[in-house]
Amino acid sequence: MENNNSEDNPKRTEERRERRYQCRFCNYSTDGCGNFKRHERIHTGERPYSCFYCSKSFASSTNLKTHVRLHTGEKPYACSYCPYTANEKASVKSHIFSRHMNQSKTL
Ligand SMILES: [Zn+2]
Ligand SMILES: [Zn+2]
Ligand SMILES: [Zn+2]
Repeated sequence: MENNNSEDNPKRTEERRERRYQCRFCNYSTDGCGNFKRHERIHTGERPYSCFYCSKSFASSTNLKTHVRLHTGEKPYACSYCPYTANEKASVKSHIFSRHMNQSKTL
């Protein structure tokens, strides 16, 4: 419209294909509405996922799921060396590191 040089050159179309969603805060752009909304939350600090059990809220559903396990007591991550289980993958990792890695020469 305002760009009146070689508007109808088909070869240029692919190069300057525009992404539909352009971030207002940085130069991130995407075709996916979902991606875009998730991205803008980086800037707005919006946290649409709130916990059912307490008033905490989270920016992503994954973070919320991890948090909710604190209430439900669900511990889907298990140590492969002993019966230890945890609600976060990172906890199992640090458990393995501190309980099983350090004492490799104890036997
Ligand atoms: Zn942005
Ligand atoms: Zn909660
Ligand atoms: Zn263990």
